[in-house]
Amino acid sequence: MAEEFFPYESFRPGQREVLRRIREEIGLSRLLVLRAPTGFGKTAVAIATGMMRSPAIHSVRTRNEITPVLRDLKRLSKRVRGVRYSFIHSAHAMCPLLSSERIDPEDFWLNCQILRESGRCSYYKKSLLVSEEDVEEILSVSENHVDAVKRISRDLGSCPFFSLAKLARGSQYVVATYPYVFSKDLFSTIYPEEDPGEFFAVIDEAHMLTDPSSIFSSEISTSKIEASIHEIREYLGGDPFSEALLNRLLRLAEEKAVDDRLRKIDRSLLSIDTDSIEHLINIALEVKRRALDRILSRGSIGEAASKRISLVKVSLAIALLEDPRFEVFAYRNGMSTWIKVTAIDHSVVSEALSMYRASLLMSGTPPTLEYIERILGIQGASYVDALELGSWSPYSNIATVLTSGLSSRYSERSPNMYDLYSKYIEVIDRFINGVKLVIYPSYEFMRNVVDRLQNQGFVENRGTTIEDLVRSIGKDGGLVHAVAGGKLSEGIELVTNNRSMIKCVFVAGVPYPQKDEYVDEIFKSMRKRVSEDEAWDYIYNMTASMKVLQAIGRAVRGEDDRALVVLGDRRFMSKDIRKYMGLRIGRIARNLKEFESLVKLVASDFL
Ligand code: SF4
Repeated sequence: MAEEFFPYESFRPGQREVLRRIREEIGLSRLLVLRAPTGFGKTAVAIATGMMRSPAIHSVRTRNEITPVLRDLKRLSKRVRGVRYSFIHSAHAMCPLLSSERIDPEDFWLNCQILRESGRCSYYKKSLLVSEEDVEEILSVSENHVDAVKRISRDLGSCPFFSLAKLARGSQYVVATYPYVFSKDLFSTIYPEEDPGEFFAVIDEAHMLTDPSSIFSSEISTSKIEASIHEIREYLGGDPFSEALLNRLLRLAEEKAVDDRLRKIDRSLLSIDTDSIEHLINIALEVKRRALDRILSRGSIGEAASKRISLVKVSLAIALLEDPRFEVFAYRNGMSTWIKVTAIDHSVVSEALSMYRASLLMSGTPPTLEYIERILGIQGASYVDALELGSWSPYSNIATVLTSGLSSRYSERSPNMYDLYSKYIEVIDRFINGVKLVIYPSYEFMRNVVDRLQNQGFVENRGTTIEDLVRSIGKDGGLVHAVAGGKLSEGIELVTNNRSMIKCVFVAGVPYPQKDEYVDEIFKSMRKRVSEDEAWDYIYNMTASMKVLQAIGRAVRGEDDRALVVLGDRRFMSKDIRKYMGLRIGRIARNLKEFESLVKLVASDFL
């Protein structure tokens, strides 16, 4: 019985019904999709389901999302005896010796291996001795995952990663960040002996699966490739074949990269095949070995452990191209040129899910069943919609205003249009208290509007973290400018006294994906499965709608939250977009004056 493993004494509206429906469907389907709004309590439902089908591995997008799952697991372990759980995220970030070293994750394992094999890591030695009960005890008293990691190294003197992995092997439920669930190699760092086919997988934020590049990709700067060429010369005296390959990649990337749009590098010009990839990886390992030998011959194990070799990451990124479903793209970010090797075919997603016995995909905006069948190629999935089963609905807690004078359509972008956007944004800033989240379709578009607002408010950049925002936001709130689909629009949680601080979400333009050659490739790959119109609809309308709903979910996180949602683009009137959003447009403001009076009304009577 799933209810038996429910972490709470009582259920929120719809939770019991959803669990019942899942129980009916779970024996019939290998893939369950749960659509449930923020505040429904998806995590508790996932835990009850996963425990019923244990062992379960619950994947979260970022390590910050581990703590809420741990909180519910801790609660469950108090209610039900014998429940054992663990969590895992980047071994590098958890490492008490190397977390402050700037080593690539791919490179980190070799450094860790040196410390382990040389007997210089006392934390590792201790992790072989600590018992599962010791680690379990630490989890039961820790406030969150950061505290748990600190206590394992400080109080037990043990390696957090290997201690938590040991506990994971004896647990019914494990929370892990995406890479440990989607990469079989990383899965086996936790479970060297186990087959993923024995596990039930829970995938949180499952709307991410519609963009293969968000999970299956690797990015490297051209300066890292240049550093790799120097490493080959320094440690091997050169290797003409590898150097030529890396130089070709450098030249093609510099030729292709013009702006922040991804431009495809023709694989055939790179002349990469299985043999050349194998050669490059062997060279990378040899460079690493020699670099470490050189340092170790001077007796400096500490220095060896923190030695970074760029070629390891570069060669592993290039190795992704061994799979014909990956392509390589170049783009510019400020002054630097970057290369992105990414999957362009959704079958990588279905392949990863098929490793598991069964999976539960959860999101406030999951892909539709039709999409799962036709694009991901997974037949017979079951769809459970919490909104139809008694969940609270965020839609009743928002007032929606559409502004018909605005549009971010390319043909309409002009200094006048940016001015107009800034004037509408000034209105919400003037009349609404709290945080006003403004979501833009791209960094470029945001820059043009924000410049006209004299940089008023917090402005996201590519390196912004959620912590940066939390640190800078005052109790009075203010404007937060963010890009749709970015870290802030999908990840911020600004809460005070259990209420969201975000009182308005202004969607400044339909956040269609920026048209570039990655989108072209995704389009081509989708066209093998659906018509041109359908592929276009999925890539543009469905994706844009998901981004808008995700942003709205930042503001309305529970029944006590209320927010004004401004759909700042007349194209939101189109039923093609609205069919995915399910939003009812309350009022339409035809000009700034009408907008101002509607905002005042919402501020006084609704918020
Ligand atoms: S074994 Fe040692 S070096 Fe490796 S992650 Fe653990 S503490 Fe760090």
